[in-house]
Amino acid sequence: MKKKYRCFALFSGGLDSILSVIFMKKLGYDVLPIFLKTPFFGPENALKAAENISVELIVHDVSKQHLEMLRNPRYGFGKNMNPCIVCHELMFREAGLLMEEYNVDFLISGEVLGQRPMSQRIDALNSVRKLSEVKDLIVRPLCQKLIKDTLPIHEGWVKKEDMLDIQGRGRQRQIEMAEEFGITFYQNPGGGCLLTDAGFSRRLKDLVEHDMLELNFVAFLKVGRHFRLNDDIKIIIGRNNADNNLISQLVENELILQAVDYPGPLGVINSKRNPTLEELDLIASILLRYNNKVENSAEVAYGKKFQLDNKIRAYKMQPEQVEKYIL
Ligand code: SF4
Repeated sequence: MKKKYRCFALFSGGLDSILSVIFMKKLGYDVLPIFLKTPFFGPENALKAAENISVELIVHDVSKQHLEMLRNPRYGFGKNMNPCIVCHELMFREAGLLMEEYNVDFLISGEVLGQRPMSQRIDALNSVRKLSEVKDLIVRPLCQKLIKDTLPIHEGWVKKEDMLDIQGRGRQRQIEMAEEFGITFYQNPGGGCLLTDAGFSRRLKDLVEHDMLELNFVAFLKVGRHFRLNDDIKIIIGRNNADNNLISQLVENELILQAVDYPGPLGVINSKRNPTLEELDLIASILLRYNNKVENSAEVAYGKKFQLDNKIRAYKMQPEQVEKYIL
């Protein structure tokens, strides 16, 4: 009996990744979609897209590895803090490490030649393959006819003539395929990754520049207003109740602050060391700036793990003074 080959499909929830999964399934392959989760790209939309096409999605967390790579990506960054070439390479390598466990023969991804300026040029596709430990096991069904053969083609597991030759930024063929396959939900191209967002990238760059690229600090980048006090200390202040709730969920061992008697924003300090009293005074002043109920000064309680046992009296900082701390 002919062997049924099994492949991982790198799955983002974008149309191209969905098409490549359905396309390969229709050709008779056993396709396991896999989503590699990072602090910058969560699986929510991919899970929805997978459900929509009735496939089960494997979600695997590569946050630590991704953060390590971000310190110094070999090919630099795209327009913002998105190191797409090396990010793809990391995704392939991490998926490659799971191949044995899932008894998988090769990998597919939904890349289309020449669609995105940075990660999908032919040299980029080849460099991903050259660098990756799974270099020779990648098939790109949507454009494999146009790129170099890999082992699955050489070995006859995948027939080159079955593959497609989609290239360029036009989406017409993909839209036709989507209609043919009845796809109703997919993530917008390029959407979903915070590293492509200019504001987020600015805050992230600040962490990199201050040697604070750690998972707990990165987690706070998604919430609130951000301020840098000095090279060691950052403050995050909630903008509304939703931010305050999110900050409460994220805090582990960080110092948090809140005005006594004047319900308002929650502040959290991101630092590898404890602040001095002088610094705390400054932080409390910045926090009070965003508390509408405080006129001139107030007591601010602070502590860890919501034990706000310590208090400091601080003056409300004037808006023009806060400016220089805003990130
Ligand atoms: S957009 Fe984000 S997730 Fe996608 S390759 Fe680039 S860095 Fe990686």
